[in-house]
Amino acid sequence: MVSGEGADAQPGRVVLVTGASRGIGLACVEWFLANGDRVAGTYRGEKEPAAPGDPEWAGRFLPVRCDVTDPGDVERAFSEAEAAFGPVEVLVSNAGITRDTLVLRMGDDAWDDVLATNLTGGFRVAKRAIAKMLRLRRGRIIFVSSVGAFVGLPGQANYAASKAGLVGMARAMAREVASRSITVNVVAPGVVDTDMTAELGEGRLQALGEMVPLGRAGTAAEVADAIGYLASDGAGYITGSVLAVDGGLGMGL
Ligand code: NDP
Repeated sequence: MVSGEGADAQPGRVVLVTGASRGIGLACVEWFLANGDRVAGTYRGEKEPAAPGDPEWAGRFLPVRCDVTDPGDVERAFSEAEAAFGPVEVLVSNAGITRDTLVLRMGDDAWDDVLATNLTGGFRVAKRAIAKMLRLRRGRIIFVSSVGAFVGLPGQANYAASKAGLVGMARAMAREVASRSITVNVVAPGVVDTDMTAELGEGRLQALGEMVPLGRAGTAAEVADAIGYLASDGAGYITGSVLAVDGGLGMGL
């Protein structure tokens, strides 16, 4: 459990999660709401998502529309979260896409789209969060990378580059902001049961699952548990680290 230190005496911390409409992002929203925090979750569609889970959480959940590839959207999303709850104390940069294909078939658009969302989008939201965290003199930033950054699966040159880029970026940022008690860490999930992996098809998913020492795909909730830990008081001395949540797939990545 984490103590609430909001400037405005409301309970819990202010958390912003990108890509919160489903999968790992939605699981993070649920984790932080269950922890008593106030959570802004970004979505892209026309329809504003309902507050997830327990009805008691509704007053502490704010859906904010944001495409992380659009600087104006990012600014608006943070401004809305700040107006409702106060400055963001925990950022989970989770929004991500794949556009898998072998390198000789990979057009510049597939490369650019994946880098723009997964890496530049992460840079953009972290930069916006850090501006306020520096003044607060505290903060937690967690980037969602992937085991693919380290093992380099075929068909994922763009994705692997974007997810490996997050690690270098997080470490540079971690050094820049450490003196203000802001930590910057990375979670590297393996095969997690979400829409993203469903796209791979049954055969490839099964083959990947068989490579996992723990013998199964992970759940979004298990990734959220690791992210919640990195945001907790107990993780105050951890920065610039990469936490694998992969059932042993990367084994020492
Ligand atoms: P999903 O495809 O289930 O969800 C992706 C989320 O990202 C959705 O909320 C989606 O919004 C959002 N998103 C995509 N593009 C943008 C954008 N430009 N701006 C804002 N939001 C965007 O994926 P997962 O939950 O599985 O993945 C979450 C993260 O975890 C990703 O970064 C992924 O790379 C990473 N990961 C996933 C693994 C897995 O096995 N599932 C393994 C390793 C890493 P919308 O609903 O509008 O499309």
